[in-house]
Amino acid sequence: MTIARAYLDYNASAPLLAEALEAMMSAPDRSADPSSVHQDGRAARRIVEAARRDVAALAGAKPEHVVFTSGATEAAATLLTPDWRMGRAPLRMSRLYVAASDHPCVLNGGRFDRSAFGVIGVGRDGVLDLAALDAELASHDRDAGLPLVAVHAANNETGVIQPVAKIAAVVKAHGGVLIVDAVQAAGRIPIDISNNYGDFLILSSHKIGGPKGAGAIVGLSDLMMPVPLVVGGGQEKGHRGGTENVAAIAGFGAAAREAAADLSAADGIAGRRDAVEAAILDVAPDAVIHSRQADRLCNTTFFSVPGMKAETAQIAFDLAGISLSAGSACSSGKVGPSHVLKAMGVEDDLGALRVSIGAATTKEEIERFAAALAAHVARGSRGECAA
Ligand code: PLP
Repeated sequence: MTIARAYLDYNASAPLLAEALEAMMSAPDRSADPSSVHQDGRAARRIVEAARRDVAALAGAKPEHVVFTSGATEAAATLLTPDWRMGRAPLRMSRLYVAASDHPCVLNGGRFDRSAFGVIGVGRDGVLDLAALDAELASHDRDAGLPLVAVHAANNETGVIQPVAKIAAVVKAHGGVLIVDAVQAAGRIPIDISNNYGDFLILSSHKIGGPKGAGAIVGLSDLMMPVPLVVGGGQEKGHRGGTENVAAIAGFGAAAREAAADLSAADGIAGRRDAVEAAILDVAPDAVIHSRQADRLCNTTFFSVPGMKAETAQIAFDLAGISLSAGSACSSGKVGPSHVLKAMGVEDDLGALRVSIGAATTKEEIERFAAALAAHVARGSRGECAA
């Protein structure tokens, strides 16, 4: 008998929603080019535009300010550039400021030269150091160009929620432009670009139950835009060349609709997340649940058990039919701490495990997780793996 696997890795990729699959399958013409003027093309265009309205609604934006991309990584690579346009006039962003705990697609600085971006630290709780951001922006040389700031709304490893409205106020006070990576926040906490939530949002379809390979840049306006990364046939009003992936965009739109409606599920998910954490502490009372005291997403638990090597534990969970992530980085065969924990100043040589759940996660799956953790710890896997 095959036992169904327990999927506890929503922050890596959320399971495809039935509504998203249905939208992809029923896109009436999946083969036509939405730029074609014939009826088939226009049918494909209608699908893309309906999805644009759904994605805009999730983010509190106007549909005409949504640019579809192949995912959040491409959205970040497009936005993180010194070269912008205000209407037709060139506009320069002379320096980029990112958070030390940002996702690598932001942390690598996009099209900025290494010498032209600064990294703002986070506190032990994982929250961006607002005073440091303020000080950096105060010393920014405005004559060289505008400051561009990019920060995540919620962290993919710890689930820590950043005070985006406060960050936006600091950036605005210094005349900067703020890009918010809302990939993990969308569908879990309210995001509203019309309400002091930055100038641009980055979204990813597959983190909210849509298909992989679709994402978006959402702007407060489209007057000021980055010089495109992908130049082609003028699609997406010239902001992103290449024929739109109609089926994936249809699925993204459906997932965005569900995500906007699903915020009410947060309390139930938080209850199950608390059950995960209670189980961890029951099995290993000395376990550390990272950023437990911070404002966190309802679905994410990032934890370390002293003496337990995260990668070994992840394999044990996998063999027990449970999918979760080890947040530790592994370079040259050595297990190192995740860059997020490192940024928080947390010593965590053996790595941490991430459990990330969703509305469909069951009590039974959490019990299976708890039993697998107990079995791993009972096997003496702490000392054994610590070498
Ligand atoms: N930003 C955050 C916070 C993420 O968690 C991820 C994916 O893990 C990304 C960006 C990249 O998303 P995509 O897979 O759509 O490129």
